[in-house]
Amino acid sequence: MEWAIFSLEHVNTLLDEPDPADSVILLHLIVKINMADQTLRLILGDQLNLQHSWFENTDKTVTYLMAESRSETDYVRHHIQKVVGFFLSMRAFAQKIEEKGHQVIYLELNDHENQSSIIDNVKHQLTKGDFEKFEYLLPDEYRLDQALEELKGNLSIPVESYDTEHFLSKRETVAELFEGKKQWLMETFYRQMRKDYDIMMEEDGKTPITGQWNYDEDNRKKLPKEVDIPSPLSFQRDVQEIVDLLESEGVKTIGQLDAAHFDWPLTREENLELLDHFLQHQFINFGRYQDAMTDRGYLLFHSKLSFGMNTKQISPSEVVEAALQYWKDHQDDIDIAQVEGFVRQIIGWREFMRGIYWAKMPEFAEMNFFGHDCALPSWFWTGETKMKCLSHAIGQSLDKAYAHHIQRLMVTGNFALLLGVHPDELDEWYLGIYMDAIQWVEITNTRGMSQFADGGIVGTKPYVSSANYINKMGDYCKNCQYAKSKKTGENACPFNSLYWDFYDRHRDKLADNHRVAMMFRVWDRMGEDKQADILEQAAFYKENIEEL
Ligand SMILES: Cc1cc2nc3c(=O)[nH]c(=O)nc-3n(C[C@H](O)[C@H](O)[C@H](O)COP(=O)(O)OP(=O)(O)OC[C@H]3O[C@@H](n4cnc5c(N)ncnc54)[C@H](O)[C@@H]3O)c2cc1C
Ligand code: SF4
Repeated sequence: MEWAIFSLEHVNTLLDEPDPADSVILLHLIVKINMADQTLRLILGDQLNLQHSWFENTDKTVTYLMAESRSETDYVRHHIQKVVGFFLSMRAFAQKIEEKGHQVIYLELNDHENQSSIIDNVKHQLTKGDFEKFEYLLPDEYRLDQALEELKGNLSIPVESYDTEHFLSKRETVAELFEGKKQWLMETFYRQMRKDYDIMMEEDGKTPITGQWNYDEDNRKKLPKEVDIPSPLSFQRDVQEIVDLLESEGVKTIGQLDAAHFDWPLTREENLELLDHFLQHQFINFGRYQDAMTDRGYLLFHSKLSFGMNTKQISPSEVVEAALQYWKDHQDDIDIAQVEGFVRQIIGWREFMRGIYWAKMPEFAEMNFFGHDCALPSWFWTGETKMKCLSHAIGQSLDKAYAHHIQRLMVTGNFALLLGVHPDELDEWYLGIYMDAIQWVEITNTRGMSQFADGGIVGTKPYVSSANYINKMGDYCKNCQYAKSKKTGENACPFNSLYWDFYDRHRDKLADNHRVAMMFRVWDRMGEDKQADILEQAAFYKENIEEL
């Protein structure tokens, strides 16, 4: 067709009083307007960033696609609260952007058009909708990143990917910082982040305020009886409808849920409310009792913001900014150790783990430094064990889809490492059970920090302990059938013999690690008879692991 420039007036005249001579032009014009660069944009369940530049202006040539996909509910068995939380957050997000005037195709789980996977849904919509372009936000999971890359190679239309505008650092920042370096230390990365983003720095941009970078030493207090634990904020939503849907669609899940009182935040507003609640009630003691364990409550002084942040409903920079502002306004109440401890988790550990993930995947998912191959005890799925620390941490995880960091690291992770559980089994458990579990942050914490299966990329030594640490940091041992101080004999705490068994069997792998050299000296000083008794006790517990 020949191109002509029409004035708006001319177009209107054509539309109002069509002249047969102009009909071909008119037809072409209408088709062209309808087709004008129609773009399909994909939004994944963990990309619910309302602040993203995509949503600044509405654009009638853009359609957003969101889908509740079976590929996502089924790649691992998830906690019921996690599936409900993701789907309801996605629905609320879709509704929000629709209200703002964006065009959305939202496929609920039982929608007849819904294909079984995210990729098939994209293909289906592209074929059906005559789109001329496909765009997506870069996924945080390697699996989806690869799948979308592959799709890109197979499509005949232009495909573009965009940053999620969520993290402070880039995927490659950690790899670039440590290029050519033998050791990748979180602390080095964290200090660089503080400097790069001018967080808690003196005016020179090089010195931390107060001259001290890290208050980790002040963050290791046991929780005294007289300290009250604030009530967690609960959103009390009735979610029965979606629970019924999951059931009728045959989605297999783990864990429990109170369908009449679902308590996770599912919108940006609710996440901001949760942040505010944390700052007002928990921040004051966050760092101080960050490592404490008790059965007096499940959240203690933690924020519970990981789900909201990992789904990108709330951003790490706004969380850190709000914390710094709150501190500024309440300098007399909140001391620097609480603030620094919180900031370090978010701009330090969280961003560091993401950088490690992108630097080391896919090999990371195969690492098994110790060659561990034991099965996960079946009571990890029920919490039914006589060991109080484990029954509480696992029971709470099944009830709440939440455990705080030290429960994950020094109770469940510690026990699994001492026992020698295959990291694949453990990854499956951690990836399924926690509300905030997405592979980039789950696997780096589990396989890396907790299991040392990466041989020391994330951490410099294995996080293992006997009952000594668990007793020092919590009140579990007081109410346990096992005796915390006994290594052998009746009712000896299993952590104690398994702890020495771990060091003994991995001496060849750990002997050169100066951070654990002292443990081998202590072990050697015990003498052969005592060592034999301890190893025998450990062997007995391993053989009878299901009865513990
Ligand atoms: C074995 C194991 C598995 C883990 N799996 C996950 C996971 O799947 N998803 C996840 O988000 N975190 C994971 N973590 C890290 C940490 O336990 C959780 O981020 C934290 O418990 C979430 O609760 P919260 O929001 O109350 O955190 P808070 O204690 O309030 O901390 C504030 C924030 O700091 C960040 N943070 C703290 N520690 C870490 C860390 N080690 N890595 C990354 N971010 C951190 C989180 O975003 C968290 O919301 C895991 C830790 C271990 C030891
Ligand atoms: S005694 Fe051992 S098993 Fe019992 S709570 Fe303490 S560490 Fe856990």
